Amino acid sequence: MTDCIDARTWIEQSRAKSFDGTAALEVMLDRVSTYEKQMGAFLQFEPEQVRQDFQETDRETTLLAGMPVAVKDNLCETHYRTTCASRMLENFHSPYTATALVNLQKHGGVILGKTNLDEFAMGSSTENSALGVSRNPWNPDCVPGGSSGGSAVAVAAGFAPVSLGSDTGGSIRQPAAFCGVVGLKPTYGRVSRYGLVAFASSLDQIGPFSQDVYGAAALLQAVAGYDPLDSTSINLPVPDYLNTLDRPLENLRIGFLEEWLSEGVDDCVRDSVTAAVDCYRKLGATIVPISLPHSKYCVATYYVIAPSEASSNLSRYDGMHYGYRSQEGTSLQDLYRKTRSEGFGAEVQRRIMLGCYALSSGYYDAYYLQAMKMRRLIQQDYLQAFEQVDLLLGPVTPGPAFRRGEHENDPLKLYLADIFTIGANLAGIPAASIPCGMTDSGLPLGVQLLGPPHSEENILRAARMFEHAKPWKTCPLK
Ligand code: GLN
Repeated sequence: MTDCIDARTWIEQSRAKSFDGTAALEVMLDRVSTYEKQMGAFLQFEPEQVRQDFQETDRETTLLAGMPVAVKDNLCETHYRTTCASRMLENFHSPYTATALVNLQKHGGVILGKTNLDEFAMGSSTENSALGVSRNPWNPDCVPGGSSGGSAVAVAAGFAPVSLGSDTGGSIRQPAAFCGVVGLKPTYGRVSRYGLVAFASSLDQIGPFSQDVYGAAALLQAVAGYDPLDSTSINLPVPDYLNTLDRPLENLRIGFLEEWLSEGVDDCVRDSVTAAVDCYRKLGATIVPISLPHSKYCVATYYVIAPSEASSNLSRYDGMHYGYRSQEGTSLQDLYRKTRSEGFGAEVQRRIMLGCYALSSGYYDAYYLQAMKMRRLIQQDYLQAFEQVDLLLGPVTPGPAFRRGEHENDPLKLYLADIFTIGANLAGIPAASIPCGMTDSGLPLGVQLLGPPHSEENILRAARMFEHAKPWKTCPLK
């Protein structure tokens, strides 16, 4: 089997006109046909469509030069269905395309297929998908993480140099860590959410996965930007992330979240994150211990706010306008109930119930309002920290990828494992997961870099310094 092709090779060789794009695309398609049965990255994959889109793409003058990009199946696009891995939307064709995908195509990206996810992006293992099973390329008995599991698998398996996911509480960074690839959640509002099926609108953000830091920079540059169709999108120019990427940061001050490495964190995570700190110290960074006193409330806060917003966003799936409709209803109320009971899986129903409860009169003040106040305190912790340091560094997850089925009957345990990723969503700040080591059993580990709003350029440059100093293994499937 031919080796994986990374984003830097694809883009730089295309620019130098020393690249046979058509042959490279066939390498990718070949890899998918060899490994996809085992991996389950995609919910929809149509090689002929990919070839056609590729032929119609301007590969001479565009940033991405025809690079194939796997896309999470909660992003709307008019050719492919938008299923959100849910029975509810299994046959749903969107009448419009997400702005991020319009931008992607404008910059020469070619959609390679729609990737598997936890239903409506709710979960951390992709086991909540109603439509498929995804496996970790480093060990197929382990989960790839979630909810953007399929997008992480597509990159780790070498099906595409890069992919797109969405991150509401860690759904890019956690699967990136589990699959040994780079994952970046941009600042809230940096990438338009228009056409991203809403989970929790005040937290959702689209971002890249990549084998190398370069690909994350290129893909973010392609999809980011102001969009009048998303009222929360930010009207700031998109920096040229690629142009500055290889310039190391000078006088870099890194805040080490050592308190995140205390109880409940596996030794392998502690050791690899500490080694990453040592690496930055050797690269000349000043390391400052930083405490975020409210981060212990992150999980409780998120699991009130995200389900509350979800319960409201998902009220539109009633069997009337679009999507699944039960055949059994005897009255309007009955039809609603049966449609939603049959169309949504257990985790989605659990979130809707949690959210409805937290928003109901009598409980709103005790739960939702309290959570909103705590969100502000969490945000202030971060902003205060960034008065002292340029970036923060800590773990992504308490442990490496776990075995399939291990947490099937224990949703709370999975919620608790989101503790290190949720804060960036609550604060609206950018954060990335970068591969930083391996467990003894050969599973990848990630380190998280977080920065103040709009510091993607610095996060990428710092990640690039690390990549240069401690290059990681990619593509376990040879
Ligand atoms: N694991 C978190 C959840 O289940 C995050 C999901 C996400 O970021 N989409 O809500």
